[in-house]
Amino acid sequence: MSPATESATEFASGAVLLDAFGRRAEDLRISLTDKCSLRCTYCMPAEGLAWLPARAVLSDDEIVRLASVFLGLGVRTIRLTGGEPLVRAGVAGLVGRLAGLQPRPELSLTTNALALADRAEELARSGLDRVNVSLDTLDRERFHTLTRRDRLADVLAGLAAAQAAGLTPVKVNAVLMRDENLAEAPELLAWALRAGYQLRFIEHMPLDADHRWTLADMVTADEVLELLGRSFRLRPVGHRGHAPAEEFEVLDGPGRADWAPVLDGGHHRVGIIASVTRPFCRDCDRLRLTADGQLRTCLFGHQETDLRGALRGGADDAELAELIRQAVRAKPAGHGINAPGFRQPERPMSAIGG
Ligand code: SAM
Ligand code: SF4
Repeated sequence: MSPATESATEFASGAVLLDAFGRRAEDLRISLTDKCSLRCTYCMPAEGLAWLPARAVLSDDEIVRLASVFLGLGVRTIRLTGGEPLVRAGVAGLVGRLAGLQPRPELSLTTNALALADRAEELARSGLDRVNVSLDTLDRERFHTLTRRDRLADVLAGLAAAQAAGLTPVKVNAVLMRDENLAEAPELLAWALRAGYQLRFIEHMPLDADHRWTLADMVTADEVLELLGRSFRLRPVGHRGHAPAEEFEVLDGPGRADWAPVLDGGHHRVGIIASVTRPFCRDCDRLRLTADGQLRTCLFGHQETDLRGALRGGADDAELAELIRQAVRAKPAGHGINAPGFRQPERPMSAIGG
């Protein structure tokens, strides 16, 4: 069958999720909990948040059931996130069950890595394919200030364990803030190149629980590239498909002789996720399922579809699939952060699932 015929057949059978702008949703982020073991200043207040009651959170059975409905609708990749997904009990068991679904999804995990050193091996054995680790600084004091916990050593141990367990390529996500860690960006890149991790800088987004974000204060992709360009020779990779990161080959830079080899014969890379100044909404293929079972089609949207209510109310798979299709059809064209009248979502990133 030609790709065009295959696509038309899939669509006719309802096995793809198309929105009103022709985008196909294939990537599902599932938040396993809204709780977290860190308190990153750009994400959560020091005292934490009003956590969801246990009965509100989807059980493993409910997650597996919903995931299988999404896979039947053409979703191909599932990323487990939170809050901090590894504070939930039994994540490896859940990974194993998701890996057993048909068609098997590609499975990844976004984590602060505090608990990864002891779990990486078991997660890999259970079927996890890759991890993204969030780390904004290599300085112990600054890590303590930024996350309000003195746990840098655990993150570094978690990263090493992930690499040893084959959860590769290990990606590292860093949020830069002008007065805190912006100047450290070149050092972070040099470290990642030496260690063999793929570093991506994320623009700070208006998703902090304290609502302190301002467009004027945020560090832009242009600024980061200008700063990196002073020490590294970068070349844009070009086509990025649905990936949120704009990628750059790192052709040369300090300590070049010590950079880890690139295993797949490709190039050393760095990425920028510029959701604010270079939005990629036109290519967005993502859906989000919150820990309490609400489907969100846009990180910045105000609409949620209550899949948990339907599930617990006895909906069958066909009814759940129809609810999902309707939600996707109503996915907004873009997040509108830069538009007048933009209103930050009520829930912060940790509660939606990053
Ligand atoms: N706790 C896990 C972690 O930190 O990797 C997973 C959830 S966390 C919400 C997912 C990602 O969102 C992290 O990479 C974090 O840096 C990012 N994040 C949180 N708040 C953000 C904000 N206001 N702007 C940009 N990124 C943010
Ligand atoms: Fe926790 Fe991740 Fe938010 Fe940091 S970014 S507070 S690790 S959920």
